[in-house]
Amino acid sequence: MGSELKDYLRLKEEEWEDMCIRCGGCCGAFDDPCEHLCKDGNGKYYCDIYLHRFGRRRTVSGEVFDCVPVKKILDRHWKNDFLCAYKQYRPFPWFKLK
Ligand code: SF4
Ligand code: SF4
Repeated sequence: MGSELKDYLRLKEEEWEDMCIRCGGCCGAFDDPCEHLCKDGNGKYYCDIYLHRFGRRRTVSGEVFDCVPVKKILDRHWKNDFLCAYKQYRPFPWFKLK
């Protein structure tokens, strides 16, 4: 793969990641959170194993689930999922949130 294409794809990936408002909802922040979900001093959520997050994980109540890219769960529902930037963006892909 050429370096220009790699740079372009990296930029697009960063743009996609930047859309997340870190509400934590997709990681269970509003009901039964993943054991790896943490909150920073500004009230935003982050994953303490972000670079290695995919795979079998557990919630604080002990439920086992698979952590997958958020793109793969946009058709699912979770508590307060109306907050999710990707769910808001999805029906209007021509409209960029930020
Ligand atoms: S492991 Fe997955 S579900 Fe758990 S906090 Fe990290 S990103 Fe969210
Ligand atoms: S629900 Fe959407 S906006 Fe909120 S943390 Fe998950 S991916 Fe980001």
